[in-house]
Amino acid sequence: MGADASLLLYTGAVMSCLFCKIIEGSIPSTKEYKDDRCYAFADIHPQAPVHILIAPREHRSSLDAAGEENEQPALLGHLLQVAVHLARIKGLAKGYRVVINIGEDGGQTVDHLHVHLLGGRAMGWPPG
Ligand code: 5GP
Ligand code: ZN
Repeated sequence: MGADASLLLYTGAVMSCLFCKIIEGSIPSTKEYKDDRCYAFADIHPQAPVHILIAPREHRSSLDAAGEENEQPALLGHLLQVAVHLARIKGLAKGYRVVINIGEDGGQTVDHLHVHLLGGRAMGWPPG
């Protein structure tokens, strides 16, 4: 695929993406944290007393589609560090869970890469 076609596909994905709209502020959300690389907000249907989503500002459809560019490991590490930072702020000293759902079988319902931070109750295993 040519560069122009790739750009058009990318632009279309961004324009129709729920989390891109939340990140740019055109759809409201409850902010928990933000910096130049990511935005973290409360999940609208919390599955635990603390349920925060941490998403990169730049659209990537999933972890699987995140690619292997040079900056990618740093970005993914940053999302995890933000999860730890928020867990401390939220007082999750007894533990917490970090989840990334990928694709249909992985249970991903929003096609913009995000890390779930869940805490405030004991988690079961295996997950559903
Ligand atoms: P996934 O299933 O893709 O891993 O997670 C998507 C998450 O986004 C779900 O936990 C769902 O509750 C949350 N979600 C879906 N729509 C909205 C919304 O409009 N606002 C917020 N804050 N969370 C949403
Ligand atoms: Zn997006």
